[in-house]
Amino acid sequence: LYDRDGWLWQDGEWLPWRDARTHLLTHTLHYGMGCFEGVRAYDGPHGTHLFRVAEHTRRLADSAHALDMPLPFGEAELVEAQRQCLAKNGLVNAYLKPTVYFGAEGLGLRAKGLTSHVMIAAWDLGDYISPEAAAIGLRALTSSWARHHVNISLCRAKTNGHYVNSMLALNTAIKAGFDETIMLDPEGHVAEASAANVFLLRDGVLHTPEVTSCLQGITRDSVIRLAREVLGIEVRERRITRDELYIADEAFVTGTAAEILPLRELDGRHIGARAGAPAPDLPIPDDSVTARLQRLYHRVTRGDLGDDLQGFAGWLTPA
Ligand code: PMP
Repeated sequence: LYDRDGWLWQDGEWLPWRDARTHLLTHTLHYGMGCFEGVRAYDGPHGTHLFRVAEHTRRLADSAHALDMPLPFGEAELVEAQRQCLAKNGLVNAYLKPTVYFGAEGLGLRAKGLTSHVMIAAWDLGDYISPEAAAIGLRALTSSWARHHVNISLCRAKTNGHYVNSMLALNTAIKAGFDETIMLDPEGHVAEASAANVFLLRDGVLHTPEVTSCLQGITRDSVIRLAREVLGIEVRERRITRDELYIADEAFVTGTAAEILPLRELDGRHIGARAGAPAPDLPIPDDSVTARLQRLYHRVTRGDLGDDLQGFAGWLTPA
């Protein structure tokens, strides 16, 4: 990522991509105290739009506030900077990563006078998940690493340091030959995947963990609303056990980068086998709830609203 043309936004200024530098003693590098977002912009039939950028920016401001880090820019200014980041870099499809971090005014946990900085990078994710991969989905392993506890970390904040735990879990699963991990909360209930929320379908009802140990995902919210308001499917947010995933009719994970990916197998159990799901290495059926939600999500993110999705126009910010 170092060596490329383009512009990064830092504290209100545009820096040539290759010249972006920060000091080695940057506090956040040493202690992980910082927060960030992952936002996407998509090209569609009516041009390029940022998807739910106001909600992402609000979550960034909430994260900074919860961490007690001053945020030196208003949300509207940060939305505008993200919008400009697209034009400045000639992007029509992009992943944007606004990050709030502490400067190098001091080191150690008692450092005083730390200043908050904000940077925004944007780049094209390319074909991050091909349509074939999105139809086949993931084989996952339940992690032996527990996800955060409310008394250990801030589950509402998207904090840099949280991702050590995610990477421990994900790397263990990848080394064991799996694509993804499912993490449990400290009491043993399903929390989330390494960087995505989890849903299951059983007898026509969708279930997803309540947000005590997982991130309050914006894709999670989009899926809940599309399921309820467009498909008329009931969604329950509650505690879920891992064996509920084993015996689900369908399961999937959601996130800004992943969008909606089927969860086909967990701990060697073929999810949905009883309900007639095809083998985990074959595409999911077009009439599955997962595939129907994928198609709706694809349309709404690309601004292809038609008559049925007009109610979601507020999720789109023209670039
Ligand atoms: N959980 C974690 C730990 C994540 O990193 C992400 C990605 N931001 C999600 C869930 C999904 O959140 P969103 O849909 O807002 O991207």
